[in-house]
Amino acid sequence: MPEIIDGKKVADEVFAECRRDLADLASRGITPGLAVVLVGDDPASQVYVGSKVRRCRELGMASFKHELPATATQRELLDLVAWLNAHDEVDGILVQSPPPPHIDEAEVVRAIDPAKDVDGFHPVNVARLALEDPSGFVPCTPLGVQRLLMASGVETRGAHAVVLGRSMIVGKPMALLLMSKGRGGDATVTVAHSRTRDLAAVTRSADILVAAIGRPEFVTADMVKEGAVVIDVGINRLPAPGTKTGTRLVGDVDYAAVAPRCRAITPVPGGVGPMTIAMLMANTLKAARLRRGLKP
Ligand code: NDP
Repeated sequence: MPEIIDGKKVADEVFAECRRDLADLASRGITPGLAVVLVGDDPASQVYVGSKVRRCRELGMASFKHELPATATQRELLDLVAWLNAHDEVDGILVQSPPPPHIDEAEVVRAIDPAKDVDGFHPVNVARLALEDPSGFVPCTPLGVQRLLMASGVETRGAHAVVLGRSMIVGKPMALLLMSKGRGGDATVTVAHSRTRDLAAVTRSADILVAAIGRPEFVTADMVKEGAVVIDVGINRLPAPGTKTGTRLVGDVDYAAVAPRCRAITPVPGGVGPMTIAMLMANTLKAARLRRGLKP
């Protein structure tokens, strides 16, 4: 039977570290704060923003929720970001994705002060990750995956890791983390995407397979090597008549078919999902420390 990697348990360990860190900061008179900006009324985004704000409160961190209507202009959003950049109580700024189509998201990300960019999407932080500069902010989902691998005792050093997906949010930073020097890195990394030839042969060669493509149950048993570690980043909602929400969550991996072949695997939900918000909290505390010249 494979080990089922418990994301909730590891996320709780991260939250416990955050609480200790918050107590230390409180003893110095510092209350870190996260500002979350939501433009429009996308229901999934509202749920994500709500859980981020709730988690801040639970931990005793300040949170500032800014909701703009779907009709908000690029200028209004940039002005809000500039205001948050200038506000000292705000350590982290996050603009929930996706914004409405008329918003130039890349320009908004570039407007965020890199020292407050706790999502790690600003070009300065992308460069810092590539340069292995520890003062940068790493996107929360791949950072959470790396933490899950380390907490589960998965040896990345020398392993062949295949990252399925090349987005700036998950795939690319994931590949950079896995190939970086040191613990949780030192892997030999292959990045696969929609133009990859003979994809199944590539994924079958993985000791560690990270699936982040946004296609429900795409990774089937024949695409996975016996004894591999499989990390499923995907969050896909499929219709499920007869349930309370009418939908069910599935990952990018056909869990039932793939799990029996694996050494370890993450479930959906309860795998990578809880880690993303945990690493967001950790990144906000890191920002609070770095901005005050303290060691993270
Ligand atoms: P994107 O849509 O930005 O990227 C998807 C990537 O998968 C692209 O690189 C694309 O290739 C590749 N891809 C798509 N279809 C195929 C295919 N048939 N074969 C091979 N490669 C393919 O998605 P994200 O990276 O933002 O998200 C990926 C998944 O992770 C989604 O399910 C998302 O919901 C989930 N997610 C989960 C998070 C969490 O907290 N657990 C956080 C963020 C995302 P190409 O570049 O060639 O188009």
